[in-house]
Amino acid sequence: MKKIIYPGTFDPITNGHLDIAKRAAVLFDHVILAIANHPKKNSLFTVEERIDLIQASIEHLDNVSVSSTDALIVRFAKENEAIALIRGLRSISDFEYEFQMALMNRSLAPEISTVFMMPDERYMHLNSTVVKEIAALEGDISAFVPAIVEAQLKSKLNK
Ligand code: ADP
Repeated sequence: MKKIIYPGTFDPITNGHLDIAKRAAVLFDHVILAIANHPKKNSLFTVEERIDLIQASIEHLDNVSVSSTDALIVRFAKENEAIALIRGLRSISDFEYEFQMALMNRSLAPEISTVFMMPDERYMHLNSTVVKEIAALEGDISAFVPAIVEAQLKSKLNK
């Protein structure tokens, strides 16, 4: 059983995240999206809300699940008997940070590999922050997030 962890903030999940999760689901037996719970990060959605949004968005994917963790990601990976972490690469600017993280994670846990994947071109410029900014200005985000995320963003931001 080859398991891979997809760590992130997912505040909220976007079609870019889903694109990466689906690609990983083809290559691995099980993909666990792990919401990294950083109390210092100011997030719009609570961890519970993010879990619910992810669950609704991955319902149709048999071998993808969601969890959250306060622990170091490599520790979470080992506890869940995963063999790798997956990260999305959108641009050269992602590369430097991701490269550093991958090397650091490897020095902490040499048995856990990091796998990088590129999303579909449509999602190359997408991140959760941009989606939240567009939604706050009442722009159309329907091409970027699942319908349930769009609805929740609207109700949270346009109160
Ligand atoms: P962000 O706040 O950048 O949207 P997260 O911390 O939730 O992201 O990201 C988790 C992982 O998902 C990272 O590896 C990030 O590069 C990747 N990711 C985020 N958005 C996309 C996207 N549109 N396409 C591909 N990968 C993405």
